[in-house]
Amino acid sequence: MENLNIDQIVLEVMEKLKPLAASSSNEEQLESKSKGIYEDPEEAIEKAYLAQKELFEMTLSDRKRITDSIKTHLLKYVRELSEMVVQETGMGNVKDKIIKNTLAIEKTPSTEDLRAGVFTGDDGLTLLELSPFGVIGAITPSTNPTETVICNTIGMVAAGNSVVFSPHPGAYKATNRCVELINEAISMAKGPKNLVVTVDNPSLAKSEVVMKHKKINLLCATGGPALVKAVLSSGKKAIGAGAGNPPVLVDATANIEKAAKDIVDGASFDNNLPCIAEKEAIVVDSVFDYLVFNMKSHGAYEIKDRETIDKLVALLVPEKWKPNKKFIGKDAREILKAIGIDAEDHIKLIIMEVEKDHPFVIEELMMPVLPMVRVKDVKEGIELAVKVEHGFRHTAICHSKDIDVLTEMGHRIQTTIFVKNGPSYAGIGVGGEGYTTFTIAGPTGEGLTSASTFTRKRRCALIGGFTIR
Ligand code: NAD
Repeated sequence: MENLNIDQIVLEVMEKLKPLAASSSNEEQLESKSKGIYEDPEEAIEKAYLAQKELFEMTLSDRKRITDSIKTHLLKYVRELSEMVVQETGMGNVKDKIIKNTLAIEKTPSTEDLRAGVFTGDDGLTLLELSPFGVIGAITPSTNPTETVICNTIGMVAAGNSVVFSPHPGAYKATNRCVELINEAISMAKGPKNLVVTVDNPSLAKSEVVMKHKKINLLCATGGPALVKAVLSSGKKAIGAGAGNPPVLVDATANIEKAAKDIVDGASFDNNLPCIAEKEAIVVDSVFDYLVFNMKSHGAYEIKDRETIDKLVALLVPEKWKPNKKFIGKDAREILKAIGIDAEDHIKLIIMEVEKDHPFVIEELMMPVLPMVRVKDVKEGIELAVKVEHGFRHTAICHSKDIDVLTEMGHRIQTTIFVKNGPSYAGIGVGGEGYTTFTIAGPTGEGLTSASTFTRKRRCALIGGFTIR
C-alpha cells in the first residue's frame, strides 16, 4: 500500500478549500451571476433539473461545502431579510425574526444528517443508502417565509436535490431575496448554477404548475390545510407540514412562576405566528389565578370583563371560525388599541378567561392573544387539550412535575412535538436540545424534517462478501 504522506493530505485539503476562500473575497463579481428567480415556473423547473444533474456528479463534501457557504453568507443578511419580511407581510416583529432566521441558519443539519444503515451476516453485507429524489417543489408560507427557505434549502441540497420554491404571494419579495442570496453563496462555493430557484410574481396557477410538473419528483408543502390537501391530491409523493393549534396545559405540581414566563414568551414569540406557538392555555383551577397573576408580571395584559372580550371577538373573528387577516401577526398593543385600550410598552400578550368552546380556543388565530380555560383537574385538561388540538398532530406543551401526567398527556395527544416545562420554541431547538426546522410534517408523518427526510431509501446487497468476522 502506498504510504500516506501528511503533506499531501494537507495540500489536498487546501486545494478543496481554495474555491471557497478565493470566491469569498470576490463577492462583488457575483452580481452578474444567476439570481435563481424566474417568472415562468416551467423555466425554473427546467433549470433546476439540469442543476440537479450536476450536483449528482459531485461529492458529499461538495454538498457540505455548498451548504456551509449558504450558512456563512446568509448570516450576514439576517437583519436585512428579517426587516424585509416584516415590511412586506406586515406580520411579526424584526427582533424575533432575527432569532428565527439565525436559528434556521445555525441549527439546520446538513450532510451529517445522512446516516446510512447496514445489515451484515452469513449471507454478506446489505447497505441502506440515502439517495436524492431529484427536483423538489417546495411551497412556502407567509408566516416564516425566509426561515422555511433556509431550512428547506440546506436539507434538500445536502440530500443531493435541487429545489424550486413556490413562495407565498404575500411574502415573495423577501422569499426571492433569500433565494438570490442563496445563489450567491452557491456560486461562491462553486456549486451548480440554479440549484435553488424560485418563482417570481407567484400565484396559485404557478404553484399548480410546480405541483403537476413531470420533472418534479417530490413536493414539500409548508402552510395551512388547503395547501396540504392540494399537495396530497397532486398524485405525487408529498410531505405535508400543516396547521397547528398547540394547547399548553398547566397542573398544580408545575413551577407556576416559570410556567407563567415560559407561556408568555412562547405565545408572544414573533406575535404568535409560529405554528408551534401556544395558542390556548388549559389550567387546573387551583393554580389558575396564581398563574394569571404571574403572567401579568411578564408582559401579559388581562381582559376581565365580558363586554371587552366580546368586542375583541367581533374584531378578531368577525365571521365565525375565520380570523381577521388584518390582525394576524400584529403586536398585542396594536390589537388593544383597536378596541380603545392604551397598553404600556412592555405588553406583548393579551389573555382572558373563556369557556372551552370559545372561538379563540378553537381557531388558530396566530395573534398574541391567549385564551385561558379553567378545568377542575388534569384528566379534564388532557381531554380538552386533545380535543382542541383537532388531531393536527402538531405541537403541545405541558407544565407539570408529575411524570404520570406528562406521560399521559404525551401518550394521549400524539403530537409531533411535545414540550415539557419550557416555552413552545424549545421544541425547535431554542433553549431545547436537537436540530431545528420550520417544516414540521405532522399530517404525513415525517416529523421535524431534515436532510434525510428528502432522500429515497435504497438497499444495496452484496451476497457472500465482506463477512470479515
Ligand atoms: P397558507 O396556507 O395561506 O400558504 C402557504 C402556501 O401555500 C403559500 O405559498 C400559498 O400560496 C400556498 N397555497 C395556499 N393554498 C393553496 C392551494 N389550494 N393550492 C396551492 N397552493 C396553495 O399559509 P400561511 O398563512 O402562509 O401560513 C400559515 C399556516 O401555515 C398556518 O396554518 C400554520 O400553522 C401553517 N404552518 C405550518 C408549518 C409546519 O411546519 N407545520 C410551518 C409554518 C406554517
